[in-house]
Amino acid sequence: MKTKYIFLTGGVLSSVGKGVMAAALGRLLKERGYKVAIQKLDPYINVDPGTMSPYQHGEVYVLDDGAETDLDLGHYERFIDTSLNQVCNVTTGQVYEEVITKERRGDYLGGTIQVIPHITNEIKRRIGLVSKTTGAEIVLVEVGGTVGDIESLPFLEALRQMHNDAGHENCFYIHVTWLPHIGATGELKTKPTQHSVRELRSIGISPNMIVARSDYPVAEELRDKIALFCDVEKRAVIPLVTADTVYEIPVTLEEISVGELVMEYLGLQGRQKPNWQPWKEMLTKMRQDKTEVKIALVGKYVELHDAYMSVREALQHAGIEVGVDVTIKWVHSSDLEKTDTLDVLETVDGILVPGGFGERGTEGKIAAIQYARENRIPYLGLCLGMQLMVVEFARKILQDDRVNSTEFNRQTAHPVIDLMPDQRDITDMGGTMRLGLYPCKLQPGTIAAKAYGTDFVQERHRHRFELNNAYRDTLEEAGMRFSGLSPDNRLVEIAEFSDHPFMLGTQFHPEFLSRPYRAHPLFVAFIEAVQNYAEKK
Ligand code: GLN
Repeated sequence: MKTKYIFLTGGVLSSVGKGVMAAALGRLLKERGYKVAIQKLDPYINVDPGTMSPYQHGEVYVLDDGAETDLDLGHYERFIDTSLNQVCNVTTGQVYEEVITKERRGDYLGGTIQVIPHITNEIKRRIGLVSKTTGAEIVLVEVGGTVGDIESLPFLEALRQMHNDAGHENCFYIHVTWLPHIGATGELKTKPTQHSVRELRSIGISPNMIVARSDYPVAEELRDKIALFCDVEKRAVIPLVTADTVYEIPVTLEEISVGELVMEYLGLQGRQKPNWQPWKEMLTKMRQDKTEVKIALVGKYVELHDAYMSVREALQHAGIEVGVDVTIKWVHSSDLEKTDTLDVLETVDGILVPGGFGERGTEGKIAAIQYARENRIPYLGLCLGMQLMVVEFARKILQDDRVNSTEFNRQTAHPVIDLMPDQRDITDMGGTMRLGLYPCKLQPGTIAAKAYGTDFVQERHRHRFELNNAYRDTLEEAGMRFSGLSPDNRLVEIAEFSDHPFMLGTQFHPEFLSRPYRAHPLFVAFIEAVQNYAEKK
């Protein structure tokens, strides 16, 4: 079978859920027995989001192969439950880097290098790599940003050319737009959608489907109007009202026959009947009345919840599995550095410190960790959250407040967290951390080993610093257990306390491997401890 392509563009506004739409549609097709992969084309010039501030970009999502990618890849993996690879996130930076490298090498000797065809060819080559490297039969390609942006033009031109290259019968174009609501008249407006489709047509792309996102129910007349003005079949005008959970979307799309429609357009037959049973059970469990548990998420970017997207999802998955309603209390780490501010932690049933970089707020995170340790509140530390758990404990046992990570104080008297040896000569910041899947063996009888129920796991990483092995014995004698180690014993992957109900930190990021109805074992163990703590309280 020739590879089938589904292209998703956005209109009117960004952040209307194009990524979730792609992810959900991917699931619909996977449910019909097809091998699916999803790619994101990001028009910015950075090579990857790894060096961008989470304030600009939200979370950096890490794949098995170590690619640092857009957070939409997290939605994709969570929905289609397939591990994607580095070709699934393309940026303008990568495309130009490749073309310019070839030009310098002399590959185009004699030629003038231009956006069309050189840049667009490189974009198309990268779109082609998805099926080649993943074996996907259907490839969904989402273009970041909104039609009308200058930066996305080469990507849209490449998508237009794909229509001929891949064959008209193998391409399906979806435009995801937003219907604004006018409060004074209580109306939804289609005009921006019409304009956006016109803009898309002027580039040469005629959408086969329009997904009209809105916060309010969309009346039939509006669907008629969009169909008429945008020249799309009415049944292909899909109103998509904001749901209370993104996990509702695949089921909604299935109910309004979006899967059938896309299959019909692409000339595909379903190979199996979709089985939404497990997915629906998950939704039912999610909506059941459950006891609420409160987790303080102590971070430096908490104003922007997207910065902790996968952590938030992983907590939710674990809550569904354990049968509790997890509410996140977003705590700004810098706030905890002021006096008398720790009382915000009094009402919570668990504390989580996620990954992070840079000194700002670290002392606040350490204060939260100390509070968790002394008050025996369940604690989960992810990456930096594990490193600071070690710093906090070492300060106590060495009775020295100068203990630190060399990330925050190069000259510290006690560098309990230090740069990994192979990081010392690295000067480039982009893509040079210890990234992606690495193995970890678990020590029998520990909390970690019990949670996983196995003695060997592979988890995704993104860090430069590590626990300094010179302090291992001291920490161990004082009660810290190293329950996860790299197979050569050189690197501490998991640390936990034996005399605390649940205080555990991981050097890796378990949140990236949590799936809607396959919650991550460590998150489940944490939420179970949180539930116990809440009950006793
Ligand atoms: N900044 C720390 C390091 O580089 C932690 C990284 C993280 O939390 N992802 O090791």
